Amino acid sequence: MHDVTVVGGGCVGCSVAKHLAERSSLDVAVVEKEYHLAAHQSGRNSGVLHPGFNYEPGSLKARFATEGTRRLKEYAAEHGIPLDECGVVVTALDDAEERRLGDLREQADANGVETTLLSGSEEVREYEPNAAGQAALYCPEAASIDSQEYVYALASELKDAGVDFYVGHRVDEVRDDGSSLALETSNGRLETRYLVNAAGLHADELAHQLGVGRAYQIVPFRGEYYELVPDRQSLVESMIYPVPDPDLPFLGVHYTRRTDDKVIVGPNAVLAFGREAYRNTDVSPRDLYDTLTYRGFWRLMASREMASVAWDELNKSYRKSAFVAAARRLLPGVTERDFAKSYAGIRAQVVAADGRLVKEPLFEHGPRSTHVLNAVSPGLTSSLPFGDHLAERVLERFD
Ligand SMILES: Cc1cc2nc3c(=O)[nH]c(=O)nc-3n(C[C@H](O)[C@H](O)[C@H](O)COP(=O)(O)OP(=O)(O)OC[C@H]3O[C@@H](n4cnc5c(N)ncnc54)[C@H](O)[C@@H]3O)c2cc1C
Repeated sequence: MHDVTVVGGGCVGCSVAKHLAERSSLDVAVVEKEYHLAAHQSGRNSGVLHPGFNYEPGSLKARFATEGTRRLKEYAAEHGIPLDECGVVVTALDDAEERRLGDLREQADANGVETTLLSGSEEVREYEPNAAGQAALYCPEAASIDSQEYVYALASELKDAGVDFYVGHRVDEVRDDGSSLALETSNGRLETRYLVNAAGLHADELAHQLGVGRAYQIVPFRGEYYELVPDRQSLVESMIYPVPDPDLPFLGVHYTRRTDDKVIVGPNAVLAFGREAYRNTDVSPRDLYDTLTYRGFWRLMASREMASVAWDELNKSYRKSAFVAAARRLLPGVTERDFAKSYAGIRAQVVAADGRLVKEPLFEHGPRSTHVLNAVSPGLTSSLPFGDHLAERVLERFD
Protein backbone atom coordinates (compact mmCIF):
# COMPACT_ATOMS: atom_id res chain seq x y z
CA MET A 1 0.00 0.00 0.00
CA HIS A 2 1.43 3.40 -1.00
CA ASP A 3 0.79 6.51 1.05
CA VAL A 4 0.17 8.77 -1.96
CA THR A 5 -0.34 7.61 -5.54
CA VAL A 6 -0.20 10.16 -8.35
CA VAL A 7 -2.02 9.16 -11.51
CA GLY A 8 -0.41 10.78 -14.56
CA GLY A 9 3.22 10.98 -15.65
CA GLY A 10 3.04 14.43 -17.21
CA CYS A 11 4.76 17.57 -15.92
CA VAL A 12 2.04 18.22 -13.32
CA GLY A 13 1.93 14.69 -11.88
CA CYS A 14 5.73 14.44 -11.76
CA SER A 15 6.03 17.89 -10.17
CA VAL A 16 3.51 17.02 -7.45
CA ALA A 17 5.41 13.77 -6.75
CA LYS A 18 8.72 15.69 -6.64
CA HIS A 19 7.43 18.16 -4.07
CA LEU A 20 5.76 15.42 -1.99
CA ALA A 21 9.04 13.48 -1.93
CA GLU A 22 11.00 16.62 -0.98
CA ARG A 23 8.61 17.75 1.76
CA SER A 24 7.82 14.42 3.44
CA SER A 25 8.96 10.87 4.00
CA LEU A 26 5.74 9.42 2.58
CA ASP A 27 5.80 6.42 0.25
CA VAL A 28 4.90 8.02 -3.11
CA ALA A 29 4.13 6.30 -6.43
CA VAL A 30 3.40 7.55 -9.96
CA VAL A 31 1.09 5.54 -12.23
CA GLU A 32 1.13 6.19 -15.98
CA LYS A 33 -0.92 4.38 -18.61
CA GLU A 34 1.61 4.81 -21.43
CA TYR A 35 4.97 3.02 -21.52
CA HIS A 36 6.81 6.34 -21.68
CA LEU A 37 6.22 9.66 -19.94
CA ALA A 38 5.08 12.99 -21.40
CA ALA A 39 3.17 11.21 -24.16
CA HIS A 40 0.25 13.63 -24.13
CA GLN A 41 0.01 17.35 -23.28
CA SER A 42 3.43 17.54 -21.59
CA GLY A 43 5.20 16.28 -24.69
CA ARG A 44 2.90 17.74 -27.35
CA ASN A 45 2.91 21.48 -26.73
CA SER A 46 4.71 24.61 -27.94
CA GLY A 47 7.36 24.36 -25.23
CA VAL A 48 7.13 28.06 -24.38
CA LEU A 49 7.82 29.53 -20.97
CA HIS A 50 5.16 32.24 -20.74
CA PRO A 51 6.47 34.77 -18.22
CA GLY A 52 3.02 36.14 -17.42
CA PHE A 53 2.58 39.47 -19.23
CA ASN A 54 -0.87 38.54 -20.48
CA TYR A 55 -2.44 37.20 -17.28
CA GLU A 56 -4.60 39.17 -14.91
CA PRO A 57 -2.53 40.62 -12.07
CA GLY A 58 -3.22 38.85 -8.78
CA SER A 59 -4.57 35.70 -10.45
CA LEU A 60 -3.16 32.25 -9.69
CA LYS A 61 -2.32 31.96 -13.38
CA ALA A 62 -0.16 35.12 -13.28
CA ARG A 63 1.55 34.09 -10.05
CA PHE A 64 2.33 30.56 -11.20
CA ALA A 65 3.49 31.71 -14.65
CA THR A 66 5.96 34.35 -13.40
CA GLU A 67 7.33 32.14 -10.64
CA GLY A 68 7.22 29.08 -12.90
CA THR A 69 9.29 30.75 -15.63
CA ARG A 70 12.00 31.72 -13.17
CA ARG A 71 12.07 28.32 -11.45
CA LEU A 72 11.98 26.32 -14.67
CA LYS A 73 14.92 28.30 -16.08
CA GLU A 74 16.93 27.51 -12.95
CA TYR A 75 15.84 23.85 -13.09
CA ALA A 76 16.83 23.58 -16.78
CA ALA A 77 20.26 25.03 -16.03
CA GLU A 78 20.81 22.59 -13.12
CA HIS A 79 19.67 19.52 -15.08
CA GLY A 80 21.08 20.30 -18.54
CA ILE A 81 17.65 20.61 -20.19
CA PRO A 82 17.70 22.40 -23.57
CA LEU A 83 16.38 25.95 -23.11
CA ASP A 84 16.56 28.96 -25.42
CA GLU A 85 15.98 32.37 -23.84
CA CYS A 86 14.96 33.89 -27.16
CA GLY A 87 12.17 36.25 -26.00
CA VAL A 88 8.89 36.99 -27.77
CA VAL A 89 7.68 39.80 -30.01
CA VAL A 90 3.92 40.46 -29.70
CA THR A 91 3.09 42.39 -32.80
CA ALA A 92 0.15 44.78 -33.36
CA LEU A 93 -1.30 44.91 -36.86
CA ASP A 94 -3.73 47.83 -36.44
CA ASP A 95 -4.60 50.72 -34.12
CA ALA A 96 -6.94 48.68 -31.92
CA GLU A 97 -4.24 46.07 -31.35
CA GLU A 98 -1.68 48.80 -30.69
CA ARG A 99 -3.94 50.17 -27.95
CA ARG A 100 -4.21 46.68 -26.42
CA LEU A 101 -0.41 46.53 -26.29
CA GLY A 102 -0.62 49.36 -23.77
CA ASP A 103 -2.92 47.23 -21.56
CA LEU A 104 -0.57 44.30 -21.88
CA ARG A 105 2.33 46.47 -20.80
CA GLU A 106 0.42 47.59 -17.70
CA GLN A 107 -0.34 43.96 -16.85
CA ALA A 108 3.30 43.04 -17.38
CA ASP A 109 4.40 45.83 -15.03
CA ALA A 110 1.87 44.75 -12.40
CA ASN A 111 3.12 41.16 -12.67
CA GLY A 112 6.76 42.27 -12.48
CA VAL A 113 7.57 41.10 -16.03
CA GLU A 114 10.09 43.09 -18.05
CA THR A 115 8.89 44.34 -21.46
CA THR A 116 9.93 46.93 -24.05
CA LEU A 117 7.43 48.76 -26.25
CA LEU A 118 8.55 48.94 -29.90
CA SER A 119 6.90 51.76 -31.82
CA GLY A 120 6.78 51.80 -35.59
CA SER A 121 7.43 48.99 -38.02
CA GLU A 122 11.14 49.77 -38.20
CA GLU A 123 11.63 49.11 -34.51
CA VAL A 124 9.61 45.90 -34.81
CA ARG A 125 11.89 44.78 -37.63
CA GLU A 126 15.00 45.41 -35.55
CA TYR A 127 13.83 42.47 -33.44
CA GLU A 128 12.05 40.40 -36.09
CA PRO A 129 13.19 41.51 -39.56
CA ASN A 130 10.38 39.72 -41.43
CA ALA A 131 7.42 40.36 -39.12
CA ALA A 132 4.47 42.60 -39.92
CA GLY A 133 3.40 45.15 -37.33
CA GLN A 134 3.04 48.85 -36.64
CA ALA A 135 4.12 48.38 -33.01
CA ALA A 136 5.06 45.53 -30.71
CA LEU A 137 5.79 44.48 -27.19
CA TYR A 138 9.06 42.65 -26.70
CA CYS A 139 9.37 40.40 -23.68
CA PRO A 140 12.91 39.06 -23.21
CA GLU A 141 11.91 36.65 -20.41
CA ALA A 142 9.92 34.32 -22.69
CA ALA A 143 11.86 31.19 -23.53
CA SER A 144 11.61 27.88 -25.29
CA ILE A 145 12.22 24.58 -23.49
CA ASP A 146 12.35 20.90 -24.42
CA SER A 147 9.32 19.78 -22.42
CA GLN A 148 9.90 16.03 -22.81
CA GLU A 149 13.46 16.31 -21.49
CA TYR A 150 12.06 18.30 -18.59
CA VAL A 151 9.59 15.54 -17.62
CA TYR A 152 12.34 12.92 -17.92
CA ALA A 153 14.59 15.00 -15.65
CA LEU A 154 11.78 15.15 -13.07
CA ALA A 155 11.27 11.39 -13.35
CA SER A 156 14.95 10.64 -12.89
CA GLU A 157 15.01 12.80 -9.75
CA LEU A 158 11.91 10.96 -8.49
CA LYS A 159 13.48 7.55 -9.03
CA ASP A 160 16.58 8.68 -7.09
CA ALA A 161 14.26 9.82 -4.29
CA GLY A 162 12.70 6.34 -4.10
CA VAL A 163 9.38 7.12 -5.81
CA ASP A 164 7.92 4.00 -7.50
CA PHE A 165 6.89 4.26 -11.16
CA TYR A 166 4.21 2.05 -12.68
CA VAL A 167 4.27 2.71 -16.42
CA GLY A 168 1.91 0.83 -18.71
CA HIS A 169 -0.71 0.84 -15.92
CA ARG A 170 -3.96 2.47 -16.99
CA VAL A 171 -6.21 3.20 -14.02
CA ASP A 172 -9.65 2.00 -15.08
CA GLU A 173 -11.51 2.13 -11.81
CA VAL A 174 -11.01 3.87 -8.48
CA ARG A 175 -12.89 2.75 -5.37
CA ASP A 176 -12.89 4.36 -1.97
CA ASP A 177 -13.01 1.57 0.59
CA GLY A 178 -13.60 3.93 3.52
CA SER A 179 -10.00 4.09 4.79
CA SER A 180 -7.98 3.67 1.56
CA LEU A 181 -8.45 3.57 -2.19
CA ALA A 182 -8.24 0.63 -4.57
CA LEU A 183 -7.03 1.35 -8.10
CA GLU A 184 -7.93 -1.29 -10.67
CA THR A 185 -5.41 -0.92 -13.47
CA SER A 186 -4.82 -2.59 -16.83
CA ASN A 187 -1.90 -4.34 -15.09
CA GLY A 188 -3.32 -5.32 -11.70
CA ARG A 189 -4.60 -3.70 -8.54
CA LEU A 190 -2.82 -0.99 -6.51
CA GLU A 191 -3.76 0.34 -3.10
CA THR A 192 -3.13 3.75 -1.70
CA ARG A 193 -4.05 5.89 1.28
CA TYR A 194 -4.38 9.04 -0.84
CA LEU A 195 -4.78 9.71 -4.57
CA VAL A 196 -3.60 12.67 -6.64
CA ASN A 197 -5.36 12.67 -9.97
CA ALA A 198 -3.18 14.43 -12.57
CA ALA A 199 -4.51 12.39 -15.49
CA GLY A 200 -4.71 15.37 -17.88
CA LEU A 201 -7.21 14.64 -20.64
CA HIS A 202 -8.83 11.90 -18.50
CA ALA A 203 -8.78 13.69 -15.13
CA ASP A 204 -12.54 14.37 -15.10
CA GLU A 205 -13.35 10.69 -15.72
CA LEU A 206 -11.39 9.58 -12.63
CA ALA A 207 -12.69 12.48 -10.51
CA HIS A 208 -16.30 11.69 -11.42
CA GLN A 209 -15.81 8.08 -10.27
CA LEU A 210 -15.15 9.46 -6.77
CA GLY A 211 -18.01 11.94 -7.01
CA VAL A 212 -15.68 14.95 -7.38
CA GLY A 213 -15.86 17.74 -9.98
CA ARG A 214 -19.22 16.73 -11.37
CA ALA A 215 -19.97 20.34 -12.39
CA TYR A 216 -17.14 20.13 -14.94
CA GLN A 217 -16.20 18.10 -17.97
CA ILE A 218 -13.14 18.11 -20.20
CA VAL A 219 -13.82 19.06 -23.78
CA PRO A 220 -10.75 18.20 -25.87
CA PHE A 221 -9.45 20.91 -28.22
CA ARG A 222 -6.77 19.85 -30.67
CA GLY A 223 -3.92 22.23 -31.48
CA GLU A 224 -2.31 21.44 -34.85
CA TYR A 225 1.07 22.71 -35.97
CA TYR A 226 2.85 23.24 -39.22
CA GLU A 227 6.58 23.90 -39.29
CA LEU A 228 8.61 26.11 -41.59
CA VAL A 229 10.65 24.09 -44.10
CA PRO A 230 14.38 24.13 -43.18
CA ASP A 231 15.52 26.78 -45.68
CA ARG A 232 12.81 29.22 -44.47
CA GLN A 233 13.44 28.83 -40.72
CA SER A 234 15.69 31.88 -40.75
CA LEU A 235 12.60 34.06 -41.34
CA VAL A 236 11.95 33.88 -37.58
CA GLU A 237 14.56 34.86 -35.01
CA SER A 238 12.66 34.21 -31.79
CA MET A 239 8.89 33.96 -31.31
CA ILE A 240 6.26 36.07 -33.06
CA TYR A 241 2.84 36.31 -31.41
CA PRO A 242 -0.35 38.19 -32.29
CA VAL A 243 -1.89 40.51 -29.69
CA PRO A 244 -4.17 38.27 -27.59
CA ASP A 245 -7.88 38.99 -27.81
CA PRO A 246 -9.16 38.98 -24.21
CA ASP A 247 -12.56 37.70 -25.39
CA LEU A 248 -11.15 34.59 -27.06
CA PRO A 249 -10.02 31.51 -25.16
CA PHE A 250 -7.00 30.62 -27.32
CA LEU A 251 -4.23 32.73 -28.83
CA GLY A 252 -4.26 32.86 -32.65
CA VAL A 253 -1.69 31.07 -34.81
CA HIS A 254 1.87 32.14 -33.95
CA TYR A 255 5.53 31.27 -34.57
CA THR A 256 7.79 29.59 -32.04
CA ARG A 257 11.46 28.78 -32.40
CA ARG A 258 12.00 25.50 -30.56
CA THR A 259 15.17 24.40 -28.81
CA ASP A 260 15.96 22.08 -31.76
CA ASP A 261 15.81 25.20 -34.00
CA LYS A 262 12.64 24.12 -35.79
CA VAL A 263 10.14 26.94 -36.21
CA ILE A 264 6.64 25.66 -35.45
CA VAL A 265 3.55 27.54 -36.54
CA GLY A 266 0.30 27.18 -34.63
CA PRO A 267 -1.45 25.79 -32.77
CA ASN A 268 -4.98 26.27 -33.94
CA ALA A 269 -7.79 25.19 -31.58
CA VAL A 270 -10.27 22.79 -33.09
CA LEU A 271 -12.80 20.58 -31.29
CA ALA A 272 -11.25 17.09 -31.21
CA PHE A 273 -13.52 14.09 -31.81
CA GLY A 274 -11.70 12.21 -29.04
CA ARG A 275 -9.47 12.91 -26.05
CA GLU A 276 -6.50 11.47 -27.96
CA ALA A 277 -7.68 12.17 -31.51
CA TYR A 278 -4.41 13.66 -32.76
CA ARG A 279 -5.32 13.57 -36.46
CA ASN A 280 -8.33 15.40 -37.85
CA THR A 281 -9.63 12.07 -39.16
CA ASP A 282 -9.49 10.34 -35.72
CA VAL A 283 -12.79 9.74 -33.94
CA SER A 284 -13.47 8.13 -30.56
CA PRO A 285 -17.24 7.43 -30.58
CA ARG A 286 -17.32 7.25 -26.77
CA ASP A 287 -15.50 10.58 -26.23
CA LEU A 288 -17.53 12.25 -28.95
CA TYR A 289 -20.73 10.98 -27.33
CA ASP A 290 -19.52 12.43 -23.97
CA THR A 291 -18.95 15.83 -25.57
CA LEU A 292 -22.16 15.92 -27.57
CA THR A 293 -24.33 14.89 -24.63
CA TYR A 294 -22.77 17.46 -22.30
CA ARG A 295 -25.03 20.46 -21.81
CA GLY A 296 -21.99 22.64 -20.92
CA PHE A 297 -20.68 22.06 -24.46
CA TRP A 298 -23.93 23.16 -26.08
CA ARG A 299 -24.14 26.22 -23.80
CA LEU A 300 -20.59 27.12 -24.84
CA MET A 301 -21.45 26.72 -28.52
CA ALA A 302 -24.66 28.74 -28.12
CA SER A 303 -22.59 31.91 -28.04
CA ARG A 304 -22.42 33.33 -31.54
CA GLU A 305 -18.78 34.31 -31.04
CA MET A 306 -17.71 30.77 -30.02
CA ALA A 307 -19.62 29.23 -32.90
CA SER A 308 -17.86 31.54 -35.34
CA VAL A 309 -14.43 30.85 -33.78
CA ALA A 310 -15.13 27.10 -33.94
CA TRP A 311 -16.00 27.38 -37.63
CA ASP A 312 -12.81 29.38 -38.40
CA GLU A 313 -10.66 26.89 -36.53
CA LEU A 314 -12.24 23.92 -38.33
CA ASN A 315 -11.50 25.65 -41.59
CA LYS A 316 -7.83 26.05 -40.60
CA SER A 317 -7.68 22.36 -39.72
CA TYR A 318 -9.03 21.01 -43.00
CA ARG A 319 -7.70 23.70 -45.40
CA LYS A 320 -3.99 24.43 -45.40
CA SER A 321 -4.64 27.65 -47.33
CA ALA A 322 -6.81 28.98 -44.46
CA PHE A 323 -4.10 28.13 -41.90
CA VAL A 324 -1.40 29.78 -44.02
CA ALA A 325 -3.56 32.88 -44.54
CA ALA A 326 -3.77 33.28 -40.74
CA ALA A 327 -0.02 32.74 -40.42
CA ARG A 328 0.79 35.23 -43.21
CA ARG A 329 -0.78 38.07 -41.22
CA LEU A 330 2.26 37.99 -38.93
CA LEU A 331 4.87 37.02 -41.52
CA PRO A 332 3.76 38.31 -44.93
CA GLY A 333 6.70 36.79 -46.84
CA VAL A 334 5.60 33.17 -46.42
CA THR A 335 3.73 31.04 -48.95
CA GLU A 336 2.04 27.62 -48.72
CA ARG A 337 5.22 25.91 -49.94
CA ASP A 338 7.06 27.12 -46.81
CA PHE A 339 4.83 25.07 -44.47
CA ALA A 340 5.17 21.35 -43.74
CA LYS A 341 2.63 19.48 -41.60
CA SER A 342 3.94 18.88 -38.08
CA TYR A 343 2.61 17.34 -34.85
CA ALA A 344 -0.54 18.06 -32.82
CA GLY A 345 -1.42 18.26 -29.14
CA ILE A 346 -4.79 18.15 -27.39
CA ARG A 347 -5.74 20.59 -24.65
CA ALA A 348 -7.69 19.22 -21.68
CA GLN A 349 -10.00 22.22 -21.57
CA VAL A 350 -12.50 22.16 -18.75
CA VAL A 351 -15.96 23.48 -19.58
CA ALA A 352 -18.31 24.19 -16.69
CA ALA A 353 -21.91 22.96 -16.83
CA ASP A 354 -23.02 26.58 -17.46
CA GLY A 355 -20.94 26.67 -20.67
CA ARG A 356 -18.04 28.69 -19.23
CA LEU A 357 -14.50 27.87 -20.39
CA VAL A 358 -12.49 27.57 -17.18
CA LYS A 359 -9.33 29.59 -17.67
CA GLU A 360 -7.74 29.36 -14.22
CA PRO A 361 -5.99 26.30 -12.75
CA LEU A 362 -8.71 24.23 -11.07
CA PHE A 363 -8.39 21.46 -8.50
CA GLU A 364 -10.88 19.87 -6.15
CA HIS A 365 -10.60 17.47 -3.25
CA GLY A 366 -12.43 14.33 -2.16
CA PRO A 367 -12.03 12.78 1.31
CA ARG A 368 -8.85 10.90 0.28
CA SER A 369 -8.06 12.52 -3.04
CA THR A 370 -7.01 15.69 -4.88
CA HIS A 371 -7.99 16.13 -8.53
CA VAL A 372 -6.27 18.46 -11.00
CA LEU A 373 -9.19 19.21 -13.27
CA ASN A 374 -7.77 22.07 -15.31
CA ALA A 375 -4.06 22.42 -15.93
CA VAL A 376 -4.49 24.57 -19.03
CA SER A 377 -1.77 26.60 -20.71
CA PRO A 378 0.60 27.80 -19.34
CA GLY A 379 0.52 24.53 -17.40
CA LEU A 380 4.03 23.58 -18.48
CA THR A 381 5.46 26.96 -17.44
CA SER A 382 3.58 26.81 -14.13
CA SER A 383 4.28 23.18 -13.32
CA LEU A 384 6.92 23.68 -10.60
CA PRO A 385 5.01 26.17 -8.41
CA PHE A 386 1.70 24.46 -9.21
CA GLY A 387 3.07 21.06 -8.15
CA ASP A 388 4.57 22.65 -5.05
CA HIS A 389 1.24 24.26 -4.14
CA LEU A 390 -0.67 21.01 -4.68
CA ALA A 391 1.83 18.97 -2.64
CA GLU A 392 1.35 21.41 0.24
CA ARG A 393 -2.45 21.03 0.05
CA VAL A 394 -2.15 17.22 -0.12
CA LEU A 395 0.13 17.09 2.94
CA GLU A 396 -2.25 19.28 4.96
CA ARG A 397 -5.07 16.91 4.09
CA PHE A 398 -3.03 13.73 4.51
CA ASP A 399 -2.18 14.70 8.09
C1 LIG B 1 -1.17 22.23 -28.13
C2 LIG B 1 -0.72 22.66 -26.75
C3 LIG B 1 0.21 23.68 -26.60
C4 LIG B 1 0.61 24.08 -25.34
N1 LIG B 1 1.62 25.00 -25.23
C5 LIG B 1 2.07 25.33 -24.00
C6 LIG B 1 3.17 26.22 -23.87
O1 LIG B 1 3.78 26.63 -24.84
N2 LIG B 1 3.55 26.57 -22.63
C7 LIG B 1 2.92 26.11 -21.52
O2 LIG B 1 3.30 26.50 -20.42
N3 LIG B 1 1.89 25.24 -21.62
C8 LIG B 1 1.48 24.82 -22.83
N4 LIG B 1 0.46 23.93 -22.94
C9 LIG B 1 -0.18 23.42 -21.72
C10 LIG B 1 0.65 22.29 -21.10
O3 LIG B 1 1.18 21.43 -22.07
C11 LIG B 1 -0.24 21.52 -20.13
O4 LIG B 1 -0.87 22.43 -19.25
C12 LIG B 1 0.54 20.52 -19.30
O5 LIG B 1 1.37 19.71 -20.11
C13 LIG B 1 -0.43 19.65 -18.51
O6 LIG B 1 0.32 18.63 -17.90
P1 LIG B 1 -0.39 17.43 -17.16
O7 LIG B 1 0.69 16.67 -16.49
O8 LIG B 1 -1.52 17.95 -16.37
O9 LIG B 1 -1.09 16.59 -18.33
P2 LIG B 1 -0.51 15.47 -19.31
O10 LIG B 1 0.82 15.82 -19.82
O11 LIG B 1 -1.57 15.22 -20.32
O12 LIG B 1 -0.32 14.22 -18.38
C14 LIG B 1 -1.37 13.40 -17.95
C15 LIG B 1 -0.86 11.98 -17.97
O13 LIG B 1 -1.85 11.14 -17.37
C16 LIG B 1 -1.84 9.91 -18.06
N5 LIG B 1 -3.13 9.28 -17.83
C17 LIG B 1 -4.35 9.70 -18.24
N6 LIG B 1 -5.32 8.88 -17.83
C18 LIG B 1 -4.71 7.90 -17.12
C19 LIG B 1 -5.20 6.74 -16.45
N7 LIG B 1 -6.50 6.44 -16.42
N8 LIG B 1 -4.30 5.94 -15.82
C20 LIG B 1 -2.96 6.24 -15.83
N9 LIG B 1 -2.45 7.33 -16.48
C21 LIG B 1 -3.32 8.14 -17.11
C22 LIG B 1 -1.62 10.31 -19.51
O14 LIG B 1 -1.13 9.24 -20.29
C23 LIG B 1 -0.63 11.45 -19.37
O15 LIG B 1 0.71 11.03 -19.48
C24 LIG B 1 0.05 23.48 -24.19
C25 LIG B 1 -0.88 22.43 -24.35
C26 LIG B 1 -1.24 22.01 -25.61
C27 LIG B 1 -2.17 20.84 -25.74
